[in-house]
Formats: sequence, structure tokens, C-alpha cells
Amino acid sequence: TFDVSAPWLNRVVERKPRQLLQAVDDVSFSVPAGGCLAIVGESGCGKSTVARLVTGLYRPSAGDLNFANGRDGKTLRAQMIFQDPYASLNPRWSVKNIIAEPLRELKLRTGAAEITERVEELLRIVGLSPSDGEKYPHEFSGGQRQRISIARALASEPEFLVCDEPTSALDVSVQAQVLNLMRELQDRLGLTYLFISHDMSVVHHMSDRVAVMYLGRIVEEGDTEEIFARPLHPYTQLLLQTIPNVRTPNRDREPANGEVPSPLNPPSGCTFHPRCPLATARCSSEAPQIRTSSSGARIACHMVDVEE
Ligand code: SF4
Ligand code: MG
Repeated sequence: TFDVSAPWLNRVVERKPRQLLQAVDDVSFSVPAGGCLAIVGESGCGKSTVARLVTGLYRPSAGDLNFANGRDGKTLRAQMIFQDPYASLNPRWSVKNIIAEPLRELKLRTGAAEITERVEELLRIVGLSPSDGEKYPHEFSGGQRQRISIARALASEPEFLVCDEPTSALDVSVQAQVLNLMRELQDRLGLTYLFISHDMSVVHHMSDRVAVMYLGRIVEEGDTEEIFARPLHPYTQLLLQTIPNVRTPNRDREPANGEVPSPLNPPSGCTFHPRCPLATARCSSEAPQIRTSSSGARIACHMVDVEE
């Protein structure tokens, strides 16, 4: 298990002086080694901030992000896969150079022949052909570009992949192909995923555990099948209504009951209370603590009884 905890990053993540990016407060979760934890929530809930903290792209300006994976307390060989592969691939580099860069930088392969051999192997692993190495990113479709960024991420031999909405820019049919590839690679290479998504269908397909985030906090966490069968938190229930089903195939997939409030000015008490159908007076004054049930699920809501 990889345990990640950010006990008090509340309002301390900054992009520029005085510009708040996203508060993340008391976020901690465990990712089963060789498994997949999905972090789900609408945009503006802090999912991407957590992804960037885990991979070291953002540094908290106060507080600590802790990792524990049984071996070594502070380091994690994590790589990130982004939503928009085009923006993360250097357009002036050949695909071969893009994939070879981490091999050279980390000295995982030395010598031109060895590097070429490994690049070709990585291209094959992600379902591209070795000759694609000579081409440039603009010569590929969106799905192929995402395969290239997966190959580049795998080049550094990570144990942990953080995937931030990796397929949400792709067409639905291509999306399924890339997700299936990612699952296949997970089995084959024993990878562990932290998978960020706003799409509950994708989360159901990909993850073993789910953490639901709302305004910088985890409000429910548990086994994927359990949460989809019996969502306890009102926000999780709201997100699940966005999955199209037989009765409402064409429904708007945006969650109802208004939008996520600005993290700059969060509501008092339970920050979900302005949108919550179960809210009581207590909810607007007192923030619920996250509690763990006997079955290992965690939930932060005054109205849900947890057998501790
Ligand atoms: Fe709704 Fe209250 Fe539970 Fe928050 S604490 S989710 S407002 S019932
Ligand atoms: Mg995001």
C-alpha cells in the first residue's frame, strides 16, 4: 500500500504570491500497490492539485505531504500522465527523442543502440510501431499521442502513475482503447495508479478504491463496488446521478443543484451544505469530521451513521 497524507495543506498552495490555487485540507488516502485509487469530483474540487502535489509539480508552501510505502518514508517514483498529451509533448522533438529523454536523464540505458532498442520496446508496449519513433507529435491522433506520453512515463520505470483526466479530451471510442491499454499495462507491469477523473463511468471501470473530493477535502472513500452500490455521502449520490442509464440516456451529465463554490470563499460548516438536499442547521455551522467505519470506508457527513 502507498499511504499518502497531507494533513494540513489548507490554503497554502500558491502559484504566484498571494494567488490561491486550491486549498487542500486534511487529504489522506491509501493506494493499494498494484491497484488503482480514483479521486473523483467536479472541476474545482482540488483533484488536480492533489495529483500535482503527489508528483512534486507543486510544492506546498507550508505543511507536508507524506508518503509511506513500507520501504522508505519520503520518496515515490511517480510519473504523471496529463489530460492534454499534445501540450506535454515537445512538438520539435521526434517521438524517439521524447521517449529517450528519461532513459538518458536517469541513465537507465546508455549507448545509442541500447536506447533505440528500449524506445522501440516501449512503443510496442503501448501499441505503436517502432517506426513511429521517427515521427513528430503533430503526425499522430489524440489517442496515439496519449500512447506516446504513456511510453514516455514508463521509460523512467515508475512504480506509481498519476493520471490526471488522461482520456477526457478523447472521443469516447478512443477513450475506451486508451483506458483498456492502461489496465493491461497495470496488470503486466504491476503498476499502481492514482487516477483523477470527473467521470463516474470511467472511475467505475478503472479503480479498486474511490476517494470523492469536494472543495479540497475527501468526503467519502471506500471500495469502488461498495461505493457504486451504496453511495453514502450526498455528494457521491449527486455525482452518481450524472451516469447516463437506460431510463435517462440523454440526460445532461453535469451534476444538478448548482456549482462548486469558489475555494477562495468556501461556505461555512460542511462546505457542501448549499447544494445538499439533506442539510440541516447543524450543517451550516459545523464541519463534519471524516470517520472510518468498521468496513474500512471513510465518510464525512453529519447525517450518515458510521459504525466505528
Ligand atoms: Fe449534507 Fe450536512 Fe452531510 Fe454536509 S454534513 S453532506 S450538508 S447532510
Ligand atoms: Mg483538473
